[in-house]
Amino acid sequence: MSNKLVLVLNCGSSSLKFAVINANNGDEVISGLAECFNLPDARMKWKIAGEKGATHLPANSAHKEAISYIVEEIIKKEEGLAEQFVAVGHRVVHGGEQFTKSVVITPEVCKGINECASLAPLHNPAAIMGIRAARDAFPELPQVAVFDTAFHQSMPATSFLYALPYHLYKEKGIRRYGMHGTSHLFVSREAAKALDKPISETNVISAHLGNGGSVCAIKNGQCVDTSMGMTPLAGLVMGTRCGDIDPSIIEHLVTREGYSVSGVMDMLQKQSGLLGISGISSDFRDIQNACEEGNQQAILARDIFCYRLAKYIAGYAVPLGRIDALVFTGGIGENSDLVRNKVLELLTVFGYQVDAEKNKATILGKQGTITKENSPIAMVIPTNEEWVIAQDSAALVTA
Ligand code: AMP
Repeated sequence: MSNKLVLVLNCGSSSLKFAVINANNGDEVISGLAECFNLPDARMKWKIAGEKGATHLPANSAHKEAISYIVEEIIKKEEGLAEQFVAVGHRVVHGGEQFTKSVVITPEVCKGINECASLAPLHNPAAIMGIRAARDAFPELPQVAVFDTAFHQSMPATSFLYALPYHLYKEKGIRRYGMHGTSHLFVSREAAKALDKPISETNVISAHLGNGGSVCAIKNGQCVDTSMGMTPLAGLVMGTRCGDIDPSIIEHLVTREGYSVSGVMDMLQKQSGLLGISGISSDFRDIQNACEEGNQQAILARDIFCYRLAKYIAGYAVPLGRIDALVFTGGIGENSDLVRNKVLELLTVFGYQVDAEKNKATILGKQGTITKENSPIAMVIPTNEEWVIAQDSAALVTA
C-alpha cells in the first residue's frame, strides 16, 4: 500500500503543533511545536526520524511564518517527502451545530468556522490563520477540517440543553457542545476492537485526562453525553480549570468581593483546578510527588479530582445502561496507575476489581486491560488524535 502522508496542523492562538502522519498506519514521520507567537522569543522544535531539531523564528512570528518554515526548511529538505502528501488536516476546536463530521475545506466551510468563532474566540480564528497559511504553502493540496466538537453532535437534547430559557439555545446557540471528540472517538473504536465487538454494539465510557479533561458516554458507538459544556471550562477538575461550579459564585465574587468579570473568568480558567486547590502545580506529576511528601492540599486536590471523575462515570451508567468498557486516556489517564486505582475503588458499586500488576504495568503508551478477569472491564488506551485527523483527511480526499 503506498504511503498516504497527511500534514496535520493544530493551531492555537499562540502556538502550533504539527505532524506528518502516515494515514495508513499512524506512523509519525515528523512532529513538532512552534510557540511564543507574536513575541520576540518565537521558536520551534521538531523531531524527524528520531532526530531532534530546534530554531528561533524571527521575532513576532506567527502561524504564517511558522508554516513557511515547516514547509521550506523541514519538509522540502527531505527528498521525496512532500510528493507523498495527500492532504493537510486541520484540528478545529469548535464546529458548533454546523459540523457533525470532518469536511473538505471550501470557502463556505471557512465561513462556517468563522461563524463558530464566538464559541471559541481564541481557537477558531487561529485555525483560519493556519488554513490560509497552509493553502498558500500547498495550493495544490486539499485541506480538511476535523472538529473537536463533531463527535458530540449525536447527543440528544436531554444531554445537550441547559435548563435556561429555550430561546437562548434557539437564537444564540447556547448549549453543551463538548470537546476532545477526536480522542473519545479514537479510544472508543480501539476499545471495540480490543473487545472484538462491532462498534455499533459497544458501550464505552471514556475518560480523557490531560491538562484539560472530559468524560464521554458512548452508546453503540455514538456519543450520548459528555462533561465539557459550551466551552471547555465545564465538567471535571482539570489542571487549571475549575470544572463544574455554582454560577452564583461569579456574581458573588463580582458584587461582594470586588472582582471584575474578566478577573473571575481568568481565575476559573487559569488559577483553579489542581493548581487552585493544591497551591502547588497544575501538573499531576507534581501533585503526586507532593502527596507522597504528605502535603495535605495536594492530597485534597488529588482526591477531589478522582471523586469528581468517579461521580461523572457513575452518572453515565444512566444513558448507557450497560458499560462494556471504561477507558482511561490522556497524559494522566495513560500514566497514573494511582488515579485509575482510586477511581475504580470509588466505583466498587459497579464491581470493578483492579489487577494491581496490570494496572502498574500499563503506562508509557501501553494499551491494556487493568481489571481482573471476573471484573467489569476497565482499560487504558493511548489516544492518537493526529492519526484520526490523518485518516479522516485521507479518506475524504481519496473518496
Ligand atoms: P496531556 O495534556 O494529555 O499531555 O497530559 C498532561 C498531564 O498528564 C499533566 O498533568 C501531567 O502531569 C500528566 N502526566 C504525564 N505523565 C504522567 C505520569 N507519569 N504520572 C502522572 N501524571 C502524568
